[in-house]
Amino acid sequence: MKLYKIKKSKIDNKGRGLYAASNIKEGTKIINYLGKIITNKEVDRSKKFDNKKPIYLFTLNKKYTLDGDFSWNIAGLINHSCDNNCDYNGKGLKIWITAIRDIKKGEEFTCDYGFGYDEDYKQFPCKCKSKNCCGYIVRAESRWRIDKKFSMANKKN
Ligand SMILES: [Zn+2]
Repeated sequence: MKLYKIKKSKIDNKGRGLYAASNIKEGTKIINYLGKIITNKEVDRSKKFDNKKPIYLFTLNKKYTLDGDFSWNIAGLINHSCDNNCDYNGKGLKIWITAIRDIKKGEEFTCDYGFGYDEDYKQFPCKCKSKNCCGYIVRAESRWRIDKKFSMANKKN
């Protein structure tokens, strides 16, 4: 039985999202994250990855990256949230999505796909509406930089 349903997303109002089709226990594997395996060199060389932030790219190891930017990668519909209920796990060349807490039927699945902090973060606003939302799609470990930047900007004014 599929653990997910595809519906219009509550986070990304232009797109779709994946929702829990039943109550799901913490630790449950929900779906495989599919894609094409490419070399890290291809990522560096290809223009395809220049402007579009690597939200669908997962570095697998020193040599390979998984590019999940394909319509047949259903897990790619899972949206980013600053208060995510899922996370991605990987082994070898495989990646899958796991519940990191109990999820109720009908909840939208979310992951922390955030980018590392860089100059461009403002191009990617986050609309997850969670209490701890930092306003941008930046991964948890890097969000303090944005908070710091905000407080510094406020001091200047
Ligand atoms: Zn957010």
